[in-house]
Amino acid sequence: MKSGLSPRVVMGVFVVVLALAPLTLSAFYVTLLNYIGLYAMVAIGLVLLTGVGGLTSFGQAAFVGLGAYTTGVLTTATELPVWLAWLSYSPWLTLVAGLVFTGVLAMLIGALTLRLSGHYLPLGTIAWGISLYFLFGTMEILGGHTGFGGLPAITVFGYELRQGHEIFYLIWAFVLLAIITTQNLLDSREGRAIRALKGGMVMAEAMGVNTARARMIIFVIAALLACASGWLYAHMQRFVNPTPFGLHMGIEYLFMAVVGGAGHVWGALVGAGLITVLKQWLQDVLPKVFGQSGNFEVIFFGFMMVFILHKARGGLWPILVALTQRVLPVRGVQRSIDSGAEQLPRRAQPKPGDLLLSGKEVTRRFGGLVACNGLSLDVRAGEILALIGPNGAGKSTMFNQISGVDTPTSGEVTFLGKSVAGRGSREIARMGMSRTFQHVKLLPTMSVLENVAIGAHVRGSKGVLSAAWRLDRREEARLLAEAARQIERVGLAEHMHEEAGSLALGQQRILEIARALASDPCLLLLDEPAAGLRYKEKQALGDLLRKLRSEGMGILLVEHDMDFVMGLVDRIVVMEFGQKIAEGLPAEVQADPAVLEAYLGGVE
Ligand code: ADP
Ligand code: MG
Repeated sequence: MKSGLSPRVVMGVFVVVLALAPLTLSAFYVTLLNYIGLYAMVAIGLVLLTGVGGLTSFGQAAFVGLGAYTTGVLTTATELPVWLAWLSYSPWLTLVAGLVFTGVLAMLIGALTLRLSGHYLPLGTIAWGISLYFLFGTMEILGGHTGFGGLPAITVFGYELRQGHEIFYLIWAFVLLAIITTQNLLDSREGRAIRALKGGMVMAEAMGVNTARARMIIFVIAALLACASGWLYAHMQRFVNPTPFGLHMGIEYLFMAVVGGAGHVWGALVGAGLITVLKQWLQDVLPKVFGQSGNFEVIFFGFMMVFILHKARGGLWPILVALTQRVLPVRGVQRSIDSGAEQLPRRAQPKPGDLLLSGKEVTRRFGGLVACNGLSLDVRAGEILALIGPNGAGKSTMFNQISGVDTPTSGEVTFLGKSVAGRGSREIARMGMSRTFQHVKLLPTMSVLENVAIGAHVRGSKGVLSAAWRLDRREEARLLAEAARQIERVGLAEHMHEEAGSLALGQQRILEIARALASDPCLLLLDEPAAGLRYKEKQALGDLLRKLRSEGMGILLVEHDMDFVMGLVDRIVVMEFGQKIAEGLPAEVQADPAVLEAYLGGVE
């Protein structure tokens, strides 16, 4: 156990300091802190959306506006239709209304824009961000560009929050709630699915993660946090107008998240604090320096952004942590594994010799090229089949037909008696076929344990809400215990809590096997598992595969390396130019003239 302060103590001190702040600070600083809290809530949403999920949004300010305008209109309008009028009774009701409205709208906007890839998504967020902003500014009932006032103060237990130092407590209660629930979410099954988005859609889907759903979830959560911030803002100002909800604020929110450290919930707080204080100060100082008025701070922020993107991609939070750790060490939250946790249920295991996978006359054409030509192969439980052949023979193409990434032009692949066609890799993972990747796909900054736990995703069911409120702890303990068990099974136990990125390539490939095993498969598909490995690493990999085979696992491996395959596998299928040129025991295949010709005669 490492020494140092426990994170709980740090959090406790933070809360006490916050609680004392309004009693000791002047009204000016309390107001500043209020703004920091409001901005931080939006930035926390962006940490989840952009920093963790990799989806960049410039449009968050518009969601803040939705929260502000919804409560503004509902609490001040005098002629609401009867079915809405009851909402004006209390701002708390309009908060709920705003959250529902924003949630529905975010789902609609998300359905339209989240499918966009690359830079089209950020452009899409700019588009709807601007649209909503102009909607606020032009709609008659929203008071046009001048806006409207007369919003009531929020009441808590009959007490009206009229002053800055009164609403301060409510704002920061919201911020703390956002921090805690977001952290809880990230440290859960759904959280790992969200973090897996950065490992690429192909990997996440192959582990059974519904990536479209995961993207939508973080998009809606970020929108709801922004909406709640807007609600607080509107009742703090008691007035709404469109200016604070424009694109410039959308950019500033993103800026806060990036500067603070977009991958960390606390980074949002640091970013919001720093940008807000700096802006105040620069707005005072810079015009004096330049001798004329103007928004000079914007220029300064521009330079700062470029500097941060060059020198500290991870933002300030990781740097701050590293600095304070030297002076005042805070204990890392190492995941504890409850080895007594009840085992996850396992699927019915096939008996050794049972037919698992069967490809019949599989053909795949790419235009005029026939990458796979009438190829048939079987894999049984408790055997290792190797699919080998020179480069360009069609091995990866065949692998894709089997794993559901691609669909054959003709022929059929069946797994456990069911056709694989049209199922998609997520469903195939559920059926009990799990894979690794030719180019390792893992999350380098996550621990080995968490990476492997992604593989167990399909075996859990707890969602976002249970994660946020920690109602998922029993299932979570079972998932982590399962991940730990698979890590021990493949022999990586001593690296359990290390970052996956710090492992050697051979160990990373073995980690991928553990991740695949965590889904409780009966068939493992390995694409060139020995590529790039040193001799010792190949030996370790061979030993592991032998052990899995003896436990009844069926294994199909696509391999380029003849030597690796020969001493290991039960049967070999050799491909060349899309066709099967030989099949049989390693010794038979090795002596086959056609194979010798393909391997030794051809150019490799
Ligand atoms: P291997 O994995 O055995 O090296 P591949 O299956 O990757 O071979 O490729 C077999 C042949 O199919 C190659 O000629 C390759 O260029 C072609 N091919 C593979 N995928 C595609 C694709 N998506 N579109 C067009 N041609 C492809
Ligand atoms: Mg290949």
